Amino acid sequence: MVEDCLFCGIAEGSIPATKLYEDDGTVAFADLNPQAPTHVLVITKRHFADVVELAVDPEASAALLGGVRATVEQLGLSDFRMLFNTGREAGQTVFHVHAHVLSGRPMAWPPG
Ligand code: 5GP
Ligand code: ZN
Repeated sequence: MVEDCLFCGIAEGSIPATKLYEDDGTVAFADLNPQAPTHVLVITKRHFADVVELAVDPEASAALLGGVRATVEQLGLSDFRMLFNTGREAGQTVFHVHAHVLSGRPMAWPPG
């Protein structure tokens, strides 16, 4: 739990969110400002600043991917885009690792 971290607050339940999936290590919840008909954020309950920091911990990395798998299965998503914005220039605004899962519309490539 990192003081003043929005997603640590969501993980521990002190900040409300529409949770769609939860297990021992991860939580998935609806993005407040959805960019697609389905836009879910999947986080580790433990605080890692970004995916590079997460990747040092194989167990937590696997847990996050497992949370994504369980979330897309639960929502019945076969086609989706999963991405990690990493660093401010790439659009990261919350520095607690989160996988964006976007679905429900055609996805452009390359992304903007
Ligand atoms: P980033 O820009 O760091 O890749 O993604 C942060 C995401 O968190 C954004 O898509 C933003 O809409 C979402 N977000 C920011 N604040 C909140 C919040 O309080 N609740 C929820 N559910 N999502 C949030
Ligand atoms: Zn955090």
